[in-house]
Amino acid sequence: MLTITVDRQSDEPIPAQVAVQIRTLISDGHWPAGERLPASRALAAATGVGRNSIVAAYEQLTAEGWVESGVGRGTFVAADAPTTARPSSPRPAEPITSGFSWDRTVARRSSPTVPVRSVAHGRGDGGDMIRLAGAVPDPSTYPSERMRKVIHDVLRREGADALAYGPPAGYASLREVIATRTTQSGAPVRPDDVLIVAGSQQGLDLIGRLMIGEGDSVLVEAPTYSNALQIWRLYGARVVGVPMDEDGLSPTQFGAALRRVRAKFVYVMPTFQNPTGLSMDEPRRREIMRIAREAEVGVIEDHFDADLRYSGVPVPPLRAYDTAGQVILLGTFSKMLFPGLRVGWIIAPREVRERLLEMKLACDLATSLPAQMALAEFCVRGELDRHLEKVRKLHAGRLRAMLDAIDTYFPENISTTRPQGGMTLWCTLPDGGDALEILEMAEERGLSIAPGVWFFPDGDGRRHFRLSFVGEGEDRIRKGIEILGSVIRTHLARRRAPRRREGETAPFL
Ligand code: PMP
Repeated sequence: MLTITVDRQSDEPIPAQVAVQIRTLISDGHWPAGERLPASRALAAATGVGRNSIVAAYEQLTAEGWVESGVGRGTFVAADAPTTARPSSPRPAEPITSGFSWDRTVARRSSPTVPVRSVAHGRGDGGDMIRLAGAVPDPSTYPSERMRKVIHDVLRREGADALAYGPPAGYASLREVIATRTTQSGAPVRPDDVLIVAGSQQGLDLIGRLMIGEGDSVLVEAPTYSNALQIWRLYGARVVGVPMDEDGLSPTQFGAALRRVRAKFVYVMPTFQNPTGLSMDEPRRREIMRIAREAEVGVIEDHFDADLRYSGVPVPPLRAYDTAGQVILLGTFSKMLFPGLRVGWIIAPREVRERLLEMKLACDLATSLPAQMALAEFCVRGELDRHLEKVRKLHAGRLRAMLDAIDTYFPENISTTRPQGGMTLWCTLPDGGDALEILEMAEERGLSIAPGVWFFPDGDGRRHFRLSFVGEGEDRIRKGIEILGSVIRTHLARRRAPRRREGETAPFL
């Protein structure tokens, strides 16, 4: 059946919309050269498009040489209309090989990262893998229809201006929105303090480029965000992990590390930390800032998922306790909304912000302007807050489902963090447990988890693993945890069982 659809909201005239579709039918060979096109009245009746629009479309196609018409004869596809005959396909590309070696040219060592495919989809790759590894919100929750409408309206309102290079520091209305939201979170900020970047990952990279020289030391929470680890290493840093306790980065350990190491900065996630889900309370934040001030060390605060709170009272970011201008705060839309538009921000004192802007200019000139315009409009219309209200409820249910299932199915000697928000929680196995082995067994049973070794700077972390509770619905979470519980029991039983090789009598410990 022939369908021609028109969008009556569109700026494009309806005859032009019809003409495009007829052209496609001709060039696809659906209507070959010489074929008689349906009479305008018949096509109008069959498609619901007005007859005048069909007549106008036929006239346009006649003028363009796609069709020919004679009075009283009807309309025919022109003999020389470009139909199915397509240019013969070019020779397929072959892998580029040459005798040239880039080794002498490349300056930076490779900096291994987490196996991204495995995190995102699980090794099984099948659509049915239960994904408890990646800390990314469930795409089925993305408000794509609302965003489509916003993008459409913005393009209609701004026209070609939306498709230009944007201001290097970012689109003014978006900087304003971000300043307001940050101020509401307890850290007063002006729009000028905000530098828009292409995702907070770019923010981390710009900081790395600007601040790290080969051999410099950087402090991170242990465990920490693996792709930040990769950046610090890429620029040549010696990365030193500072242990955490149940309230986040330990002040005692932080102070001790600062006495031991002359660090350029400390990279810290005080709210719903990745990977542990732990948060610092207010006294802890004040204490960390007091220590940082005394040691005169920069603080890079990654505020990536602080808006995803499901219980407890919000605590202001470290930036709120900064009296000396030593905190650089990073934020992103990726976790509270979706990551695809690649928009994040840096809030920093002027002096360092200007240097970061220089780096940003060298890197990509400016962040995508239509993406920024759409996000600003999305926020101004209240869509972001409505979305947050929805996903907070949804995530809270998923977190509860995961914790309940853990209580039911995990052996008692596994300890688990109980976050008040964010996307992930952190599990610790008893001595002798090995999360890499558990990962392998779990993947065979259709389940992915993130083993702890990915998150430590020094190869530590075998006894830990991270679980994401936002990527799957409650039923699949329960199912996944049931499977994982049985995998863990098998693994621990094997570990406890004496393993004897020939001639050996001692048990494996
Ligand atoms: N920081 C943390 C802690 C993250 O988990 C991520 C994304 N996984 C980022 C920063 C980077 O996010 P984006 O570039 O999408 O803003």
